Amino acid sequence: MPRPLIMPMSRPVPRPVHRLAPRPLIDLSDCVRCEVCVDVSPSVFYVNEAGTISVAERDEYPGEEVAEAIRSCPKDCIYLEE
Ligand code: SF4
Repeated sequence: MPRPLIMPMSRPVPRPVHRLAPRPLIDLSDCVRCEVCVDVSPSVFYVNEAGTISVAERDEYPGEEVAEAIRSCPKDCIYLEE
């Protein structure tokens, strides 16, 4: 009697914990200064002295946080530098 073919289960490929993102940019002409991006990613976005939103100068940008800020921005005015 033939034995049933048992296929080995494939292992899930682990996602990197800290994916990095390119530098985010903000189109200030559309920004309504709601500060959602600051709440979502305070290590990247901050309110500057002029009261507008700035992007911190960093060597690396946390991908998940930046992606969440892009998704959460109500004006879709956060972009990634190419
Ligand atoms: S979430 Fe978007 S609209 Fe709100 S402050 Fe940040 S860049 Fe501006």
